[in-house]
Amino acid sequence: MAIPLKNLMAEGKGLSLVGSDEQRCCYCNVLLQETITGKRKTPEGEACSDCYYEKLGAGVEQHPLICGRVGRG
Ligand SMILES: [Zn+2]
Repeated sequence: MAIPLKNLMAEGKGLSLVGSDEQRCCYCNVLLQETITGKRKTPEGEACSDCYYEKLGAGVEQHPLICGRVGRG
């Protein structure tokens, strides 16, 4: 059972291209890497942070829930 580190690394390299847990943004199709692109759940699937906030922003514009107090303090 213990797999030599060497093997793990070799496998990781090969598998990362075909790994089944690889996910792409459902909007821009970028490879999702939580630490790099972010990974967000949307009604349409997984999305990167950029698209997520873009969609979120569009939604907020259509349904302005957060407007009101623009002044500070
Ligand atoms: Zn995206």
